[in-house]
Amino acid sequence: MRNEIDVDEANGVESYLKHLGFETTLVRTGGGNYLIAVGAREIDIRAVGHLPGVIDVHRVSDTYKLVSRKWKVGHSEIKVADGISIGGSAFTIIAGPCAIESESQMDSILEHLASEGISLIRGGAFKPRTSPYSFQGLGLEGLQMLASLARKYQIKVVSEVISPSHVASLYDHIDVFQVGTRNMQNFQLLHELGKVDKPVLLKRGMSSTLEELLQSAEYIFSSGNERLILCERGIRTFERSYRNTLDLNAIPVLKDKSHLPVIVDPSHGIGIRRFVTPLALAAVMAGADGLLVEVHGAPELALSDGAQSLNFQESSALIRSVQQVHQLRLKLGKASVHDSTQETEASN
Ligand code: PEP
Ligand code: MN
Repeated sequence: MRNEIDVDEANGVESYLKHLGFETTLVRTGGGNYLIAVGAREIDIRAVGHLPGVIDVHRVSDTYKLVSRKWKVGHSEIKVADGISIGGSAFTIIAGPCAIESESQMDSILEHLASEGISLIRGGAFKPRTSPYSFQGLGLEGLQMLASLARKYQIKVVSEVISPSHVASLYDHIDVFQVGTRNMQNFQLLHELGKVDKPVLLKRGMSSTLEELLQSAEYIFSSGNERLILCERGIRTFERSYRNTLDLNAIPVLKDKSHLPVIVDPSHGIGIRRFVTPLALAAVMAGADGLLVEVHGAPELALSDGAQSLNFQESSALIRSVQQVHQLRLKLGKASVHDSTQETEASN
């Protein structure tokens, strides 16, 4: 719909579609206005296109609509802050510890990341741990501490929110809200994040299909927030040799189904430090827009996920290799990496 569409025009289009037997939902985000009409009836969509207030009409057969690539040509670039975005031509690395543990820990990690030119730090303050006896995170105080340290380095903060009731109190200290694998279908949380004007990094549920992931993303978009980043972080399979099975297939397939950027978390994806870098490089070649990597000054002392966290030396080596492989991907060009993407675009 037109950006400045007035209430009468919107009502007019809605009642036209309702009259034809469609259920309608009007969605207003910071990026635009959308009217979703769901119904089985075959109509000539060109007639809708002529109604006042309508810019464009698309038929989207997927169960998810707004996050589908069927209506949008090209991929979305999600702006985090001036000069920092995910999903554009640059490759974005988000690095940092699993959990915020102390001021000195975070300061040394920030210093390391700043020296490597990384502009986004990750660090959990509310940790959804499998065991109630494991370290649960430093909570709001830890996050406030990270936010004020990160400001000094001009680095933006990515951190997990686990409850809809926390969103408002964390808002000032987070630049990108992370939704963890265990909360991918916490629909109240997704709804609450739909009301926020900051990007959301949505992790795939460990037992979720790509269609379920995209429907969860649709919850946030249809609640009003279209600044979304999808994250593949490994799924649960029958294989027990590693923590999770990183589903590299998900990268090209998600990018074919959705216009949203896709990043990859190789740390949780395999759970074994020495294999994190090769998987990160594979993710780059498979077309990922970025990485979420766990880095700790002293992984052997980490309070959570030390076994999959890189030390600074390993982190520096990963960053260098990732940049080289990303350059290689660009050189090989769209022809080899994004063949399927182009095909779908052409047939729309
Ligand atoms: C994390 O990023 O530290 C985390 C808890 O991830 P996930 O939700 O993917 O397990
Ligand atoms: Mn972790």
